[in-house]
Amino acid sequence: MIDPPPLKNDCFALPPGVEWTPVDEALARLRAGLACVVGTEAVPLADADGRILAEDAIARRANPPEANSAVDGYGFAGPAPEGVNRLSLAAGRAAAGVPFAGMVPPGQVLRILTGAALPKGVDTVVLEEDTATDAASIAFHGPVKRGANTRRAGEDIAAGAVALPAGRRLSPPDLALLAAVGIGSVAVRRRLRVGVLSTGDELRAAGAEAGPGQIYDANRPMLLALTGRWGHAAVDLGHVPDDRAALRARLDRGAQECDVILTSGGASAGDEDHVSALLRAEGSLTSWRIAMKPGRPLALALWRGRPVFGLPGNPVAAFVCALVFARPALETLVGAGWQAPQAMRLPAAFAKSKKPGRREYLRARLSPEGMVEVFASEGSGRISGLSWAEGLVELPDGPTEVRPGDPVCYLPYGAFGL
Ligand code: AMP
Ligand code: MG
Repeated sequence: MIDPPPLKNDCFALPPGVEWTPVDEALARLRAGLACVVGTEAVPLADADGRILAEDAIARRANPPEANSAVDGYGFAGPAPEGVNRLSLAAGRAAAGVPFAGMVPPGQVLRILTGAALPKGVDTVVLEEDTATDAASIAFHGPVKRGANTRRAGEDIAAGAVALPAGRRLSPPDLALLAAVGIGSVAVRRRLRVGVLSTGDELRAAGAEAGPGQIYDANRPMLLALTGRWGHAAVDLGHVPDDRAALRARLDRGAQECDVILTSGGASAGDEDHVSALLRAEGSLTSWRIAMKPGRPLALALWRGRPVFGLPGNPVAAFVCALVFARPALETLVGAGWQAPQAMRLPAAFAKSKKPGRREYLRARLSPEGMVEVFASEGSGRISGLSWAEGLVELPDGPTEVRPGDPVCYLPYGAFGL
């Protein structure tokens, strides 16, 4: 008869003598080890939102291309002195797209509309609302500074300047900027093909019949959607049971069809953890024990030359690891460069004490008062908490005591590109 081992006080502490990789070290390793793996293609601006610029976008034209009026009013050669100014009205007008060809003589004003190029003889505009006029002249109170109510040529951006740098993920305002400086199509990175594969004998596809001992594959729709949100081409590699040959075949297929593969499940060191076992035996497993909660088992490896992120099976851990590790890695692979999430320091609406040894991520969101609330349960099986949350609280690797009102590091999902 065998006796069970005695329980120890520190039975939930990290095993002694085991090397846990701190989050920052794992991130630094990833950052150092990865580079852009996709080529480029040209796309018209209309299709460029969310794509990654492959080279600097150089302004073909200045914005604005010529000096023009910022308001509707009257243009003249400034400045106008203090006191009442009366100037006679020149014939004609200048409008956006319909420039005034002639010269406005000194001492006269010309009717000018917003966006109209400043004609010769005009460097200053007085606002229509500030003038009184009859058919022949206008009157207004000075002083009006030279250049008032005008925009200088190139004041926004000069021709030949870098409008946007290589690596930029294009946003709707970026498209406005590129259009304004005369760019109609851009060289962008080909979309990164991201394979998503679930592993585990217990899994059934969402919506299918599930019997005793079976659970639904929650990770695959989540990870496919995440990669889609990040602007990548998500490739559904389906689900494989805990069978090494099946996993090998599916990884081979993934390596052919994708630039990078995200697996979930089987990443620990247990008997049924075929992902880490296979990657260790036949791939090149680089790092797999990260000092963080949730999601310590994380396998990082190359399979037939393709990076594989073996995420934990637990959906909460899979999600957090995807945000913390996979996202910046994928950004690097697609040429956007490493992106650290921008955290906010906000007051906690909760209390928590934490031991040293690993970084912790809590499911969190902001209260109406702008304080950071955390989900009632830290149980890593609580998928509802992920859905409840709108971000994560990051607690540092060291020991931490959080009291209500203390500033904590809040990372809204938006900081992870969601
Ligand atoms: P594993 O990492 O394979 O040991 O899985 C850890 C836990 O996550 C187990 O309870 C699994 O049943 C569960 N799990 C693994 N993959 C998935 C998945 N795709 N969807 C939902 N739960 C999963
Ligand atoms: Mg499993």
